[in-house]
Amino acid sequence: MADSIVEIVAGATKPVLDDTTGEMVSRNELKKRTQKRAKKAAAEEARARKSSEADAVKPRPPETIEKLPEDPDAIFKHGFLADVFKERPVKPVVTRFPPGPNGYLHLGHAKAIAIAFGFARYHGGETILRFDDTNPNEEDQIYFDATESIIKWLGFTPSKVTYASDNFQRLYDLAEKLIGLGKAYVCHCTQTEIQLSRGGKDGKEGPRYRCKHADQDKDTNLAKFRDMRDGKYAPQTATLRMKQDIENNNPQMWDITAYRILEQKKKHLRVPDWKMYPTYDFTHCLCDSFEGITHSLCTSEFVLSRESYEWLNKTLEVYEPMQREFGRLNVTGAVMSKRVLKSLVENKIVRGWDDPRLYTLIALRRRGIPPAAILSFVNELGVTTARTFIQAARFEQSVRRYLEQTVPRLMVVLDPIPVTIQDHEEVIQLDAPFSPKDPSLGTHKLDFTKTIYIDRSDFRDTDDKSYYRLAPGKTVGLLQSSSPIKAISYTKDEKTDKVTSVQAVFDRTTKPKSWIQWVPEGSIKAEVRLYSSLFQSENPIAAEGGFLNDVDPKSETIYSNAMVENAFTEVRQRAPWPATTGESKGDAGPETVRFQALRVGYFAVDSDSTEDKLIFNQIVPLKEDSKKSY
Ligand SMILES: [Zn+2]
Repeated sequence: MADSIVEIVAGATKPVLDDTTGEMVSRNELKKRTQKRAKKAAAEEARARKSSEADAVKPRPPETIEKLPEDPDAIFKHGFLADVFKERPVKPVVTRFPPGPNGYLHLGHAKAIAIAFGFARYHGGETILRFDDTNPNEEDQIYFDATESIIKWLGFTPSKVTYASDNFQRLYDLAEKLIGLGKAYVCHCTQTEIQLSRGGKDGKEGPRYRCKHADQDKDTNLAKFRDMRDGKYAPQTATLRMKQDIENNNPQMWDITAYRILEQKKKHLRVPDWKMYPTYDFTHCLCDSFEGITHSLCTSEFVLSRESYEWLNKTLEVYEPMQREFGRLNVTGAVMSKRVLKSLVENKIVRGWDDPRLYTLIALRRRGIPPAAILSFVNELGVTTARTFIQAARFEQSVRRYLEQTVPRLMVVLDPIPVTIQDHEEVIQLDAPFSPKDPSLGTHKLDFTKTIYIDRSDFRDTDDKSYYRLAPGKTVGLLQSSSPIKAISYTKDEKTDKVTSVQAVFDRTTKPKSWIQWVPEGSIKAEVRLYSSLFQSENPIAAEGGFLNDVDPKSETIYSNAMVENAFTEVRQRAPWPATTGESKGDAGPETVRFQALRVGYFAVDSDSTEDKLIFNQIVPLKEDSKKSY
């Protein structure tokens, strides 16, 4: 047997692994294939870019069309965000990220987070996390907690966490001041009346005019406003409106609401005694002002709000931050609507808000996507004022590229069948690299046992010419080993017609056409969950019979008897892979244990795992498949 060890070691250096197909090929062949794939990827990239440009509201400025360098600060050095700083080059920069605590953040928000925090970090400033808690009906403590934790996971630390409600008294006092300036009035019009006075639908059906309440004197307005505060009006019977400029073409200037009395379903979590609430339009710009925000960066839906934002701060003579708007990131083929997600969770179609098939950030985290891969994706897209429409498949392609360079390789067999090699007498210890491309990741021991396990899909009981894997009389290579094996017989369960075992022998004389993954006897058992798109169509909202009708029942495939080689233990100990910001060794979750399963896909440990049961999520497959799966 000693001879065969020598033979294996000596032969081990020749072929190299093509880890996209799992084949061992010559260096030349690999070079050819890599070039071909790079060409294909570049063409796809160009196509995707072209279609996202066509979808964009405005054409992109020329500087973002060329591929951005892989510099994580590139978006702050060039283009839109560099111009924003040039416009107001003040230091220290103070930015804010202002989520409403009423839902889980999703992939689209990752861009806003990366911009708000990254811009300040790049300029040596700070970012405040401010919860816009102005609607108690929708708010829940879990959203405050989830938001804080996901920002930390993305690698950012707010300089402080604040709440719009901290400023309710100060905002109230400024509302009284606005009334005193003759710039606000209490209005009792219904929504229909207000719409009519704003020219009807889209302001195009008739003339715009002010209602009679706009003529009330300051004292009446003040008295009524105090009555609103004291709970003397029923919900929706009184609002405080700002007296702006109804002649202006911008609807945000048509005397918009500053305070409203809500149909309150529950008390405010932090300030339970308030009976009326300021609107986003009244709160946001003033809180920005109170907190000394220098650059208030928001998405382009707020471009019209800029005028009312500036109007209010100017009118009240408070410090004026600068609001600028960037294009929002829209991911097509990924449903992010809160209503849809809620329904999927409540109907138990998914495993929760963090189900790996969803695009909430907690779901992407659970699926195993590294936070740095998300940031690198945002950076890759660049920042302009145009909205960006990106297919989910392109996001996954970006994640795949990131993982390819950063995670170790292991072998996993999803549906194992035992193969006994008859002329194999002693366990052979192999030394397998964690990465065929990056020697710095090191190597691990791999026992080549007499009985090994291969995947059911890699064996056929009837051979044919176009089939290159294992079949009776056919030889196949085993990854990480240089000793091919030839199948000589097999057994089958008559009832299920399934192959139950294969007998083989070494065949070192035939040059195999294909190499397959395998695991030795004594490997670790695991459940593996593979995913593809949750919906059958690209736009499930528009699907016939509603989005629930469009759910693909095969979007999750579970292999409950999978096996992973024992070096997984070392991979787990060395996690997080990769060691990125936001995932520190101390509190890293199970999802930071990531690896590429040769010929299968990229995987991470799922949070459902227990001491006795290991569960893997597929992060992304090795190649984009035809069903646009991830
Ligand atoms: Zn009115």
